[in-house]
Parts: sequence; structure tokens; C-alpha cells
Amino acid sequence: MQQTLSIIKPDGVKRGIIGEVIKRLEASGIRIVAMKMLHLSKAQAEGFYSVHRERPFFQSLTDFMSSGPVVVMVLEGEDVIQKYRTLMGATDYRKADEGTIRKDFATDIEKNVVHGSDAPETAAFEIGYFFNRLEIVH
Ligand code: ATP
Ligand code: MG
Repeated sequence: MQQTLSIIKPDGVKRGIIGEVIKRLEASGIRIVAMKMLHLSKAQAEGFYSVHRERPFFQSLTDFMSSGPVVVMVLEGEDVIQKYRTLMGATDYRKADEGTIRKDFATDIEKNVVHGSDAPETAAFEIGYFFNRLEIVH
């Protein structure tokens, strides 16, 4: 059984599509095993996205991620990392497949509604960044 970290980004929360994202997760058989809402500080957003430190979009991305509340979830299921990334669609919504969350709701390559871990190692780091063991149901 695999786990991954999902974030509904500030644009998704502001636009009132938390329920829509969760509905799609549940409909696809993915289980939510932890969930909370929080408003990241700039420093917390920088720590989370530290792998992108050298990218040209790092400042803008971390400003955006700390601009309002987010919903953070741990998702569980067989092959859930890939399964959830398929539901999200490509980073650039213009290249995302029909019926994906980003194709349907993203407005910008940066403001793309959702985050999902991209590998088991990044999932372990990202889950540990937000949740301790007691906060994840078994
Ligand atoms: P995420 O990590 O958020 O799930 P991803 O794995 O599809 O998305 P990454 O390459 O890890 O994409 O980029 C992280 C985030 O940085 C993207 O989701 C997007 O918000 C932002 N981003 C990525 N590329 C660009 C870009 N060229 N310009 C502006 N923002 C970008
Ligand atoms: Mg990524």
C-alpha cells in the first residue's frame, strides 16, 4: 500500500473547489488517511518546495503557496502516487488531459489547483513535513 501527499493550493481553496477535488479522489477509490487546513508562512512554503530553490519560478511559487489557506491530505492506495498524478493532469493545464483536475480548473501554470508527490522518496519527505504518525489513521 502506497501513500502520497496532496495539497489543494490557495487558488483551489479560494475558488471553492475543495469539495470537487475530494469528490474526484473518493470516486476514484483513493482513501484519505489524514487531512488539515493551514496557511503556510513564506518560510514554510520555501522549505516544502526546497527542491525547486534554483528554479526561476521559486519566489513566485512560494509567494503564491503562502498567499492563503491550503488543504493538505495524505492519500493511500495501490499505486496512489501515479493514480493521483493522473487525476491531477499535467503541470501546465493547457497540456493536461481532458477530465483532469488541472484541465478543468487550473488558470495558470503556477496556479494549478493541486499538488501531488512525484515519487515514494518525495512522498515520504512531504508527508513528514506536515503530519506526524498520530495524525495519520491506520
Ligand atoms: P506539484 O509539485 O505542485 O505537484 P508538478 O510536480 O506537476 O506539480 P513541478 O515541476 O514539481 O510540477 O513544479 C511545482 C510547481 O511549481 C507546479 O505545480 C507549479 O505550481 C509551479 N511551476 C512549475 N513550473 C512552472 C513554471 N514554468 N512557471 C511557473 N510556475 C511553475
Ligand atoms: Mg512536483
